Amino acid sequence: MTTHTTLPPLPFIDLQSQRQRLGPSLEEAVLRVVRSGAYIMGAEVFELERRLAAFCGAKEVVTCGNGTDALAMVLMAKEVRPGDAIFCPSFTFAATAEVVAWLGATPVFVDVHPDTFNLDVASLEVAVKTARERGLKPTGLISVDLFGQPADYDLIEPACAKHGIWLLSDAAQSFGATYKGRKMGTIGVATSTSFFPAKPLGCYGDGGAIFTDDAELADTLRSIRNHGAGRDKYDNVRIGMNGRLDTIQAAVLIEKLAIFEDEIAKRNIIAERYNAGLEAFALVPRLPEMLTSVWAQYTLRVPAAKRDGLGPYLKGLGIPTAMYYPTPVHRQTAYQRFLVAGNGLPVTDQLAKEVISLPMHAYLDPAVQDRIIDAVGAYLAA
Ligand SMILES: *Cc1c(COP(=O)(O)O)cnc(C)c1O
Repeated sequence: MTTHTTLPPLPFIDLQSQRQRLGPSLEEAVLRVVRSGAYIMGAEVFELERRLAAFCGAKEVVTCGNGTDALAMVLMAKEVRPGDAIFCPSFTFAATAEVVAWLGATPVFVDVHPDTFNLDVASLEVAVKTARERGLKPTGLISVDLFGQPADYDLIEPACAKHGIWLLSDAAQSFGATYKGRKMGTIGVATSTSFFPAKPLGCYGDGGAIFTDDAELADTLRSIRNHGAGRDKYDNVRIGMNGRLDTIQAAVLIEKLAIFEDEIAKRNIIAERYNAGLEAFALVPRLPEMLTSVWAQYTLRVPAAKRDGLGPYLKGLGIPTAMYYPTPVHRQTAYQRFLVAGNGLPVTDQLAKEVISLPMHAYLDPAVQDRIIDAVGAYLAA
């Protein structure tokens, strides 16, 4: 294994190989915008919205500044207010709950399944009860498709209907995935995503989008995106924000969307190869039947006693790792004052101690992947 140490450090996500593959067309697309002068709401923004709609089958697409604003804009359109309970997992990026607090509503954290890392509807039932006991109004659920794998919508949708709450799907990690033939972007009253550079479909800065089949909701979102504009841009009919996507980022995304399906296929081959090489040493991620993932992260579960040593060991061999998420949102300083389902979230707490993510991107070649698999296997077998 000492030979490994002489190899150059690997990237966790290899955006440079993707850029080289796209060649001069991507740089040309950016330059076209620079020369055109249409930096705000240029033609590329609307072209991207049409292409995203065609890609996922949503009737309406509203691009915006980032994935956090995408979530917030939907909550604003739904007129979320103090006294509302908005349910969401705690095993996610803080943005999912952050937007709820922006509007003065209360995030109520729900536990997840240990095998899929996604929302557990049994815990949602408990969370609804907790919210009612505290005098809050159950209003909406923000589900998260963690690491690129869709949550279990066949159970989530009827649970939402039963409690009269709307569903917002946070697909920041899963855009491009499918749930039993349904593409992400067609779930709930709306789906949001992020084009942060490290997401499966990323731009060269911040970006996001909202998908919905509800034309009226889309109109409201377009108004919110532009400071609550009414028919006339200086007639502000509601409180909105500056939520626009830059034209340059739209141009980048148009180029990247053209190769996205191929990249998804490559990520799936890489994930299967990781599974085959590592299933003897760790709990590897398994996709439920009829679901596809875009593998935003490839995340192993490793006994807590070994997990904390694995990252530094791999780092010594030039192999980067990440922990998503070492501290669940409900345990973070700013979020401890909000509510959790019942007495706590035992699965979330356990996963936080056991997860570790390996390099994952469409340009991980087999020899490099073998180097990673060998190193992880050697440490975990010892
Ligand atoms: C990345 C991410 C967001 C936020 O997206 P930004 O574009 O960084 O604002 C929200 N939710 C989840 C689950 C994410 O992974």
